[in-house]
Amino acid sequence: MSKKIGFIGLGTMGGPMSQNLMKAGHSLTVYDINGEALESAIASGAIAVSSPKEVSQGVDILICMLPASQHVISAAYGENGFLAGLKKGTVVIDMSTIDPGTTRSVYAHVKEAGCEMLDAPVSGSSAGAISGTLTIMVGGDKAIFDEQNEILSAMGTNIIHCGAIGMGETVKLANNLVAAVSMAAVSEAFALAQAKGADAQVLFDVISKSSGNCWALQTRCPAPGVVPDSPSTNDYAPGFMTKLMQKDLGLALTAANEANVPLYMGALVRELYATTSNMGYSDSDFSAISKLYG
Ligand code: NAD
Repeated sequence: MSKKIGFIGLGTMGGPMSQNLMKAGHSLTVYDINGEALESAIASGAIAVSSPKEVSQGVDILICMLPASQHVISAAYGENGFLAGLKKGTVVIDMSTIDPGTTRSVYAHVKEAGCEMLDAPVSGSSAGAISGTLTIMVGGDKAIFDEQNEILSAMGTNIIHCGAIGMGETVKLANNLVAAVSMAAVSEAFALAQAKGADAQVLFDVISKSSGNCWALQTRCPAPGVVPDSPSTNDYAPGFMTKLMQKDLGLALTAANEANVPLYMGALVRELYATTSNMGYSDSDFSAISKLYG
């Protein structure tokens, strides 16, 4: 059934996700601080408005796909925030990867407004956002999750309920910890073997069929020219920006601190991605970590 959906954040992920919602027959009202990001949504039939409050007025569902906690906070609160415009019964779905504590505090305000909320961060990169095949990790009430399955299915194929509100974010941070560490490991392995004279294509052919095979290698091989559509082949164009991986590792470290769990590798790779950013690759795909090895 066609729904009225508000969508905030039309970047690498939110742009194609909002397009897929329109293709599924839903009507969209959109907002982004970047005028250019609004253009293609408007061309596809979305209505653009000029504040998060206006986006949230009169919609059945409000979706956010913003970079980090501070952007969700600024979109939610204040005179022009989306909380000020929500009508009773709207379901807020925050698909940004943010701190689970921020998720829970926004949730408390959403409930006060007589509305419901799910956290639903994603995995699958820009390619998955375009093809509508994202993995979506959802926290929140199971009945609301079941009710929103049709909407989430317009953007993803693996839609998994992870637990109470904020648990989608927690599971997402665990996933990105694996992706961050494995990308560093693949980069280091290539640097070593290539320095000893191995051919990058041969390395890929062997490791992708052996025990070292992983997503970082298969889709994001850091050696240019090996995987045709990989960011490294395209001058490390994102993809998933190094600064976003740094943010997610920071969130994982905060969670680890709260839970008193040591993150030996998480702490180390966070520093490696910070150095990669400082070398000028902050807005490049996180496979640019391979630049640390020359
Ligand atoms: P992005 O920077 O490409 O897009 C973010 C968009 O939000 C931009 O268009 C920006 O102008 C807009 N924006 C920023 N602040 C705003 C505000 N206050 N109000 C309205 N709009 C605002 O980021 P992205 O790659 O699309 O990532 C979005 C989220 O998805 C992040 O949390 C990221 O960690 C997560 N994520 C990204 C990927 C990926 O491969 N890019 C994969 C999985 C998850």
